[in-house]
Amino acid sequence: MNRILLVDDEPDILRVLGISLRADGYAVLTASSGEEALGIFARETPELVITDIKMPGMNGIEVLREVKHISDETEVIIITGHGDIDSAIEALHYGASDFINKPVRDKQLTIALKRAQDKIHIKQQLREYTTTLEHKVEAATREIRRRSNFQGKLIRSSNDGIVATDEELRIVIYNPGAERIFGYPQQGVIHRMQIQELYTPEIVDLFVAGVSQENGLKEFPWQETSIVSGNGENIPVRFSGSILHENGRKMGSVAFFQDLREIKRLERELLKAERLAAVGQTVAGLAHGLKNILHGLKGGSYLVDLGIKKDDTAKLKSGWDMIKRNIGRTSELVLDLLTYSKEREPEFEDCFPNEIAADVADLLAEKARESRVEIKKSLDPSISKVSMDPRIIHNALLNLMTNAIDACLFDEDTGKKWQVAMVTTLEDDNSIRFDVSDNGAGMSKEVRERLFTSFFSTKGHRGTGLGLMVTRKLVEEHGGRIEVISAPGRGTTFTIHLPFEAAGERKDKI
Ligand code: ADP
Ligand code: MG
Repeated sequence: MNRILLVDDEPDILRVLGISLRADGYAVLTASSGEEALGIFARETPELVITDIKMPGMNGIEVLREVKHISDETEVIIITGHGDIDSAIEALHYGASDFINKPVRDKQLTIALKRAQDKIHIKQQLREYTTTLEHKVEAATREIRRRSNFQGKLIRSSNDGIVATDEELRIVIYNPGAERIFGYPQQGVIHRMQIQELYTPEIVDLFVAGVSQENGLKEFPWQETSIVSGNGENIPVRFSGSILHENGRKMGSVAFFQDLREIKRLERELLKAERLAAVGQTVAGLAHGLKNILHGLKGGSYLVDLGIKKDDTAKLKSGWDMIKRNIGRTSELVLDLLTYSKEREPEFEDCFPNEIAADVADLLAEKARESRVEIKKSLDPSISKVSMDPRIIHNALLNLMTNAIDACLFDEDTGKKWQVAMVTTLEDDNSIRFDVSDNGAGMSKEVRERLFTSFFSTKGHRGTGLGLMVTRKLVEEHGGRIEVISAPGRGTTFTIHLPFEAAGERKDKI
């Protein structure tokens, strides 16, 4: 506090008090009447006013009231004469900070000034506190509002459907994304619907357990499911959710839904495109295969014509052989195509797998002999009658054995003693392993990678490129699997694992 306005109609008092106050370090303004005091006050607004109570014209009480009216912050000390106690009380009533009696003694003045000073100080502090408090509250409110706006915007603009509930599972948030998925307008849902009306029973169960049970899950990871929308449409969605907690108390739930309709549509289109591409590929491969066969037929008929014309039985015979071979290839091709194009459930029946393997070896004995290939059999005697699909075993082994003999035929290392081995092994209680090995040409990595694709053949017009593809399909339909190991120049082993059931068991099931 620096400045004091001193008001008294007696110049002596003004002078004496002024000296004393200045000596104490105050800047002192003086006025000899109430009117003059107010003029100075309005200009200078000193922090403290000391005024005599009895003055001609405007008295001290009026000065006090005016000053307080102009600035409530200013402290006013009243100087009273003897027996002026009523006015003193009135002055206190109007907000004077203190009164001192005439004649003014230094000690009394010091005490009054100290009190006024304290009051001013406290008021100032209070004002600072309240303003900073106001600022703080204002800033915090602004921040909260900003965040809530931001979160609100986030929720509103999210492409995902967001649905949140309170702890009673009443819906409190339902954004436009959710509107698009569920099809109910927002007004009809918030505070109106329960999750039972929106979610599938499984999802409802998750949330009910999560909210009401101690050991219920708190987080539900993404999963695909479908929900029924307001107009009865089944909508594929990805869903995740969690139970919300605050200070360990459950306060609600939130669920996120991603609309998968577009993705599913694209997937369907992709599948269709892939299927079309596959059809195109098949047709191209088929045309190629047929062209090869037609070449063979044409070549054969040319030889037959020549044989008839020249009466040459040798030409006739070789032409006719060529035609027969190509008729055989046609029927193979057609049968393979049929097998491949049809979904077929394996037909289990009681059979002896070792017998089937031996039959296949016999069937190919002639061809093997012609190609100078020795066939070796090693059939596990512990394999007896079981229930399997004998046609699948036959077909698969025939394909593998034919390929094995071909591999020897196509082997450039003519010094080799070619062998093809067929091995059966009882693998465990419910599966048999068939190995077909050869020491023929083997295959490169590129060939191994394309083995099972349609129309892939390295045999030119002598292969259809369908055998292995069909074999794998049959084996897999039978619940088995096929594997291959091969080394170029050394040979190849194909292995099939096929499950079986105990003989006789299957009948009562069918
Ligand atoms: P194809 O016998 O009509 O050519 P496959 O589907 O039966 O058709 O076989 C595809 C290709 O796999 C063959 O052309 C050949 O290159 C290769 N292959 C199959 N089996 C063997 C084998 N045992 N040794 C070497 N290559 C083989
Ligand atoms: Mg083949």
